[in-house]
Amino acid sequence: MKAEIVAVGTELLLGQIANTNAQYLSNKLAEIGVNVYYHSVVGDNVDRLSLMIAETAKRSELVIFTGGLGPTQDDLTKETVAAHLGVGLVMDDDAMSKIEAFFVQRKTKMAENNRKQALVIEGSVVFPNDHGMAPGMAVRKNGTTYVLLPGPPSELYPMVEQYVMPFLMQLLPGQQVFHSRVLRFFGIGESALEERLLDVIEKQTNPTVAPYAKEFEVILRITARAKTMEEAEALIVPVEDEIRERVGQYVYAVGETSLHEVLFQTLRERGETIACAESCTGGTLASLLTSLAGSSSVFAGGIVCYSNQAKHTLLDISNEILDTDGAISETVAKQLAENVREKLGATHAISVTGVAGPGTSEGKPVGLVYIGLASEGMPTEVKQIQLAGRRHAIIGRAAKFAMFYALQRIKER
Ligand code: ATP
Ligand code: MG
Repeated sequence: MKAEIVAVGTELLLGQIANTNAQYLSNKLAEIGVNVYYHSVVGDNVDRLSLMIAETAKRSELVIFTGGLGPTQDDLTKETVAAHLGVGLVMDDDAMSKIEAFFVQRKTKMAENNRKQALVIEGSVVFPNDHGMAPGMAVRKNGTTYVLLPGPPSELYPMVEQYVMPFLMQLLPGQQVFHSRVLRFFGIGESALEERLLDVIEKQTNPTVAPYAKEFEVILRITARAKTMEEAEALIVPVEDEIRERVGQYVYAVGETSLHEVLFQTLRERGETIACAESCTGGTLASLLTSLAGSSSVFAGGIVCYSNQAKHTLLDISNEILDTDGAISETVAKQLAENVREKLGATHAISVTGVAGPGTSEGKPVGLVYIGLASEGMPTEVKQIQLAGRRHAIIGRAAKFAMFYALQRIKER
C-alpha cells in the first residue's frame, strides 16, 4: 500500500511548531509494513489544500491528513476533502453529544462553531476522540482512502493507537501482524554496526533489520511479518541471536528504554546507590539520574565541580595535582570519583572531566574526556575517551559513556 502524510497548518510552515505528527505516523505505518512515499505540509488555505488533495489522489492509496479539524475559521480540512470528493458533511450524533456534555459539565455556553467539530464527511468511518472534541474519520473514493486526524498530538496518538491502527490493519490483505524488537546499542557507531551486520541486513526480507541512530545511540529494529504474533516471534529469535553473537557486547537493552533508565533499574534491583562528580557535563548526569520517579532510592547526589576551586574545595583535589596533572587527567578523574563516593556514602560513583570545546583546555584536545568509576570493594577505574562533535554532542555523549561504563561495571561487581 502506497501511503502519504499531509500535515495541514500555517504554523508548521512558519516554523512555529515541528511536524512531529508526520514522524509519529510514519513510524506507526512502518510497523505495519505500509510504505510512506511523501510527507507534505500545506497551510490553512482552501486552494492550496485542494491542489494537494488532487495530487495525493493520483499517487497514493492511503492519505493521512493531520490538523484542521477544530472549530475555528482556519480549520478547513474536512470541508476541503469533502468538496474534493463531491460529498457533504453530516452531523455525527455521538460526537455532538460528547461536545454538548463537555459544555454542560463546564457550565459554560457552547459557541455555535463548536457544532462544526461534530460534522463528519458523509459515508465515513468515524474515529472517536477520547481526548478532545473533533472526531477523526476515514473515507474511501476511487481507490484512495483518506484519513483525517486532529492536530494536537495528545488527541492524535491515542486515536491512532485505539482506532486507526485496527482500521488500517483490516485494509491490509492477508491480515498479517507486524511484530518488532528493538535492540539498543551503545559504544558503537551506526556505520560500524552496519558494517559488522551488512550481510544480515541485506539478506533479510522477513524479518527486516534496520539500524538507525538516535541521540548518540544506535537502535536496531528487527521486524517480522507473519500470521500470528508467535510466528513473528519465531522469525525474530534466530536473527537476534546472530546479531548478539557478533555485536552483543554493545547491546545494553531491548525495547523502549534509555541508558539512564536501565542504570536506574539495575541499581534499584541490587539495592545499590550512585553518586557523581561532574566537571564538563555540568550536571547532565545528575539531571538524567533524577528524571525518573523514585530516583531518591538510587541517586545519592551529585556535585558540579566545574572550576578547579570547586574541585579543590568541595572534593579535596589537591592544588598540586591540579597544577601538575591538570583538571583533565586520569588522576583527577580517579580522585573525584573516589572522594564523591566517600563523601556521599554511595555504592558507586562516576566522575566526568574533559574538554567540551569549542576551545582546547590545558593544551588538551577538544573531546578528550576522562570518566572515573569508583565502587565499594573494587579498585577505581578510569576510562579515557576521545569524542567527536560539537560542545552539545560531546557533553551528551560523555554523559552517556559514563552511564554505559557504570552499567558494565555494576554488572561485574
Ligand atoms: P484544534 O481543535 O486544537 O484546533 P485541529 O485538529 O484543528 O485542532 P490544528 O488547529 O491544525 O489542529 O492544530 C492544533 C495544534 O496541534 C497546533 O497548535 C499544534 O500544537 C498541534 N499540531 C498540529 N499539527 C501538528 C503536527 N503536524 N505535528 C505536531 N503538532 C501539531
Ligand atoms: Mg485548529
